[in-house]
Amino acid sequence: MHPACSYKLLDDHSVQCHLCQRRCQIAPGKSGYCRTRKNLDGKLFSLIYGRVSSMRISPIEIKPLFHFFPGSQWLSMGSLGCNFLCPGCQNWEIAHADVEKELPPLRFIPPEDAVQLAREDRCKGISWTYNEPTLWFEYTLDSARMAREAGLLTNYVTNAYITGEALDLIGPHLNALRADLKGFSDETYKRIANINGFDGILKILDRARHYWGMHVEIVTNLIPGINDQNTELKKMARWICDYLGSETPWHVTRFLPRFRLAQLSPTSIDKLEKVRGIGLEAGLKYVYLGNVPGHPAENTHCPACGKLLIERVNYQVVQYHLSGTGCGYCGYFIAGYF
Ligand code: SF4
Repeated sequence: MHPACSYKLLDDHSVQCHLCQRRCQIAPGKSGYCRTRKNLDGKLFSLIYGRVSSMRISPIEIKPLFHFFPGSQWLSMGSLGCNFLCPGCQNWEIAHADVEKELPPLRFIPPEDAVQLAREDRCKGISWTYNEPTLWFEYTLDSARMAREAGLLTNYVTNAYITGEALDLIGPHLNALRADLKGFSDETYKRIANINGFDGILKILDRARHYWGMHVEIVTNLIPGINDQNTELKKMARWICDYLGSETPWHVTRFLPRFRLAQLSPTSIDKLEKVRGIGLEAGLKYVYLGNVPGHPAENTHCPACGKLLIERVNYQVVQYHLSGTGCGYCGYFIAGYF
């Protein structure tokens, strides 16, 4: 167990966790909604510090982050638990795992070892992914500090339900956020993630982008009949364009039936293409389709001259026609880190 940060002591040795926007009040001997943080006699502890369920070296394209050092390799790490517990979770074996029973098996990797592994394997940096990295906060904060000192970069693959206080602690050490926007109404977020209100998520994205200057890319996994209403998606695309900027990449990904939504069909290609059209119409310059291998919308085209700039096949960059941050044909500025 590792002492947690971001919590407040209440009466009767209860505590309130301020790590994510659920702000659980936790009685002595109990854990929060995510089951990764436990109150022992009025002190909150993380049950997952340094406990790794999954670790591999993977390309940045798999996050997906398409405008952040394309083709680079990242040490990608995850632990257990989530604060959303979505019914269609693609990683439910670890996100919904019982942390106290330690299923599946975990190994302990101290932050300094993770940094050393990333350096030895010539990774660009460390990515905290697979389960919600916010819950792994103390570990990712220690690791991110060390990684940055060692000249590595860092990113979170997150649902952005972190609190502003916690974001401000890790903000100086985090370079990029690959964040979900699962819907654009309180009803949709209630149905998918069982949370009351999604305005706080928008505030986090805005603060990460504009206050901390992080590189931000957005993913929306389109679940048939659940978050695929055009009116909501139009509002979402408009918001991304207006608040995060027209150069923010928006990844619209195909839902693949899993877990408690295994009875649904995968998102149709026709629907994905229509939603891509919604994004482009809203003014976004880079709207990608995901989980559709071989689809041309996995590639980057120059918004000015239309030429193919980056071709991706199976998360690998197979063609690259940028010159610095400019289109290799017409010189148009392509936003991101290249
Ligand atoms: S991190 Fe866990 S314990 Fe803390 S508020 Fe969120 S769900 Fe509750």
